[in-house]
Formats: sequence, structure tokens, C-alpha cells
Amino acid sequence: MAVSSSSSSSTLKIGIIGFGPFGQFLAKTMIKQGHILRATSRTDHSQLCHRLGISFFSDKRAFLEADNDVILISTSILSLSEVLNSLPVHCLQRRTLIADVLSVKEYPRNVLLQVLPEEVDVLCTHPMFGPESGQNGWKDFAFVYEKVRIRDEATCSSFLRIFESEGCKMLEMSCEEHDKVAAKSQFLTHTIGRVLSELEIQSTSMNTKGFETLIRLKESSVNDSFDLFSGLYIHNRFAKQELLDLEAAFEKVKRKLQQKMEVQQEQSPNESKL
Ligand code: NAP
Repeated sequence: MAVSSSSSSSTLKIGIIGFGPFGQFLAKTMIKQGHILRATSRTDHSQLCHRLGISFFSDKRAFLEADNDVILISTSILSLSEVLNSLPVHCLQRRTLIADVLSVKEYPRNVLLQVLPEEVDVLCTHPMFGPESGQNGWKDFAFVYEKVRIRDEATCSSFLRIFESEGCKMLEMSCEEHDKVAAKSQFLTHTIGRVLSELEIQSTSMNTKGFETLIRLKESSVNDSFDLFSGLYIHNRFAKQELLDLEAAFEKVKRKLQQKMEVQQEQSPNESKL
């Protein structure tokens, strides 16, 4: 294993694996901060990378050997295992920090620990914002992370500073805790947005504020890929219960309405004929 130069300054050489919507979105702020970026991806994003001033590698080996301080994994949740298993990880520089931004956390932590050599540092993160919500900056958005296996604290701190310096609310918590909370918040939000999309709700001439919130929720949910949404379900062990609870809650509301209607009909039987 080769030894890369240590990142004593706060300028990092960051290699992104998975240059889709979220990888591109993160890259723009990292470039603005003066970091040096490279990318590799399934699709050829070389023209876009050229425009952004990023080197694009189609050869994974050359990418891994390109003296990265940090390798940032931003592939879809569903493709993580396939992507990591296709990497010649023995070409990794010993001091490289591997960080991921997947929206579930226990799963990438387990896969990274399984696939990567023991010498490689691992930081699991989830920026709780995206290309739409974070389009005007990252201030006050939560950035969740767990230092899973960190020996080079300096590089890890420099990487975290990218988000700190944009004003993110830095939340250190275990991957397990993240997944528990995210199932009850993010997964629920996406699920309801997808249900509203199945209902094909549309703006009307008499929208209430509440209905406008539902329209926005529907639109923001379907802007994210279905791979992302299904990854939240398949690879977060707490999400299954959340879906069952949602179904049960829906049935409970239906039952309460039905009971109320029956009481009303008993009290004023003639009303029900109107
Ligand atoms: P995504 O649909 O979750 O992932 C798209 C990325 O995955 C692209 O780089 C794509 O590569 C790659 N990919 C998909 N299938 C692949 C396969 N079979 N083999 C190799 N690569 C494959 O959309 P995203 O919004 O860009 O999200 C990327 C990651 O960031 C996800 O893990 C997501 O959970 C996380 N994240 C997203 C947001 C957000 O708001 N979007 C926020 C926080 C975290 P190509 O582009 O090369 O085809």
C-alpha cells in the first residue's frame, strides 16, 4: 500500500465515487471552498466534470491511486455493495479517509468495514439536506456523522470543517441512532410524499396553506430517485416497522371517522338521508 501525503493544510484532495445529483451538488460547494476534486462514476460525467474543473476518471484504479486525502462515496444505497466490490481497494492510499453520505447509516458502515482494509479510516455521514433544500446554502441544516474508525484526526476534522464552515448543525451520533430517528422522520416524509404522488394531487384554485404544503412534499419526494426512496426502506432495519405503524394509524383514523358517523346517524337518523 502506498502512503499519500498527509493533509496538514485544510485544502483537501477529495475523490467522489458516484457523481449523480447529490455528488454534483456537494462538489460545487467543495470547489468553492478551494478543495481539489476528482470523480468517478458508472456514467461518463467527464464533460460536466471538465466544466466544473474536476478530473474525471473512468479507470477506478487510476482514481484510487490519485493521491486522495478523502474518498467520498455518494452512490445510490442500492448500488453501494456492487460499487465497492468492483473497486481494487488494495490500490487505496493508506492515509485516505473513506467517507460516505448515504441516507441510511448502519448498512454502509457494515459494508465499508467488511470491504475496506483495516488501515483505512472510515467516517459515516448523512448531510440532512439535498440539491433542492440546500440550494441557497447549508446554514442550519443538520449534518449527522459517526467516526467509525478514525486515526488521522486532522484529515477527518478538515473534512468535517467543510460542513461546519457552511453553518451546518453538526450532530455526532451512532449509525444505529441515526437510522432509528431517520425511519421516524425522513422515511415517513418520503413515504407520505410518494403516497400523495400516487394520489396525483394537483394544485387547485382554492389551495389552503396545508394543501400547498402537501403539494410541495409530493414534489420534493418525487424529485429524489426511486432508488433513493427504496434504499431508505430496504437498508434501514427500522423502516419496516414505520410502514406498518403508518398503515395501522391510517386504519385507526378511518375507524374513528366511521364510529363518529355511526354515532351521528343514531342521534339524528333523518340527517343521514340528506
Ligand atoms: P441516487 O439515485 O441515490 O444515486 C445516484 C448515484 O448512484 C449516481 O452517482 C449513480 O451513478 C450511482 N449509481 C446508481 N446505480 C448504480 C449502479 N448500479 N452502479 C454504479 N453506480 C450506480 O441519487 P443521489 O441523489 O445522487 O444520491 C446519492 C447518495 O447520496 C445516495 O446514497 C443518497 O442516499 C445520498 N443522499 C442524497 C441526498 C439528496 O437529497 N439527494 C441527501 C443526502 C444523502 P451515475 O450517475 O454514474 O449513473
